[in-house]
Amino acid sequence: AKERGRNNYQFFRHDMNTRAVERQLVESNLRRALEHGEFTLHYQPKVNLESGRITGVEALLRWQHPDWGLVLPERFIAIAEECGLIVPIGNWVLRAACMQAVRWRDAGIAAASIAVNVSALEFRHRDFFDRLLAIVTETGADPACLQLELTESVLMRDVATSAALLAKLKAMGVQIAVDDFGTGYSSLSYLNQFPIDVLKIDQSFVKAIDGGMKSNGAIVGAVISMGRNLHQQVIAEGVEDEAQFAFLKAHKCNEGQGYWFSRPVEAMQMQAMLRAGVCA
Ligand code: C2E
Ligand code: CA
Ligand code: CA
Ligand code: CA
Repeated sequence: AKERGRNNYQFFRHDMNTRAVERQLVESNLRRALEHGEFTLHYQPKVNLESGRITGVEALLRWQHPDWGLVLPERFIAIAEECGLIVPIGNWVLRAACMQAVRWRDAGIAAASIAVNVSALEFRHRDFFDRLLAIVTETGADPACLQLELTESVLMRDVATSAALLAKLKAMGVQIAVDDFGTGYSSLSYLNQFPIDVLKIDQSFVKAIDGGMKSNGAIVGAVISMGRNLHQQVIAEGVEDEAQFAFLKAHKCNEGQGYWFSRPVEAMQMQAMLRAGVCA
């Protein structure tokens, strides 16, 4: 037992070191990535479940690393948050999304709305509103085409501050979506006080729809009717198969997003789908 304990200890230390090294490596590479323009946005369509038509897109950050290849957000967003780089990265994302909105408008694609994920640290940063306003002004993007996706926990951390900031954002014309809805612990009474346009049902609930058990779809059904009562658009994310799609449609969920419709794609591919109005 003693022997094994020692091995475990060594393994643990080794593991800790590896993680610290990896994090250090990612952090220094992230700094370079910003300077060298290694980030790009992919886009995933949101689809009206009744008509099948594309209503907007979500911008998803991708990192094209010269040696590591395409790096997904789960590998670097948390690290970027911890070392503060999420603020300049978030600015890059907002500017890139606004520039894309302008490009699509100039290409004659009517009012493609682009949703951008905003992390806690960005939203809490004192300059967030002013920087967003500057980016919108500089790029000439229509704020009405911009939707900010915020998680419940971000909004609930400081309700008064969140409410004041959301009011300013709404006055600018930006739309607000609650991302990963249902995974936080928000009080519905607070939620009702925020000027929220869209509820995004977390994919974990959408996954639970299959399996044939009636209760599995109960949460999704409850969220859809709640959103309707609060006059919010409800979108289900992570829709992967026809059974989920059919369930959501039957329960009058407004929109869906997921591999069933399209994976996230590059801007040019997204542009072709936007032009067609439907997923390829
Ligand atoms: P999220 O905002 O919940 O985004 C949805 C994630 O689910 C995306 O992963 C998307 O590619 C994936 N997805 C879409 N449809 C399906 C499906 O049918 N099945 C499954 N299993 N997954 C699906 P991705 O792009 O890897 O992003 C992961 C997370 O990273 C995002 O979760 C978001 O929290 C964060 N993220 C992405 N881009 C940004 C960004 O620009 N800024 C910040 N702060 N966070 C970002
Ligand atoms: Ca999102
Ligand atoms: Ca989400
Ligand atoms: Ca998520």
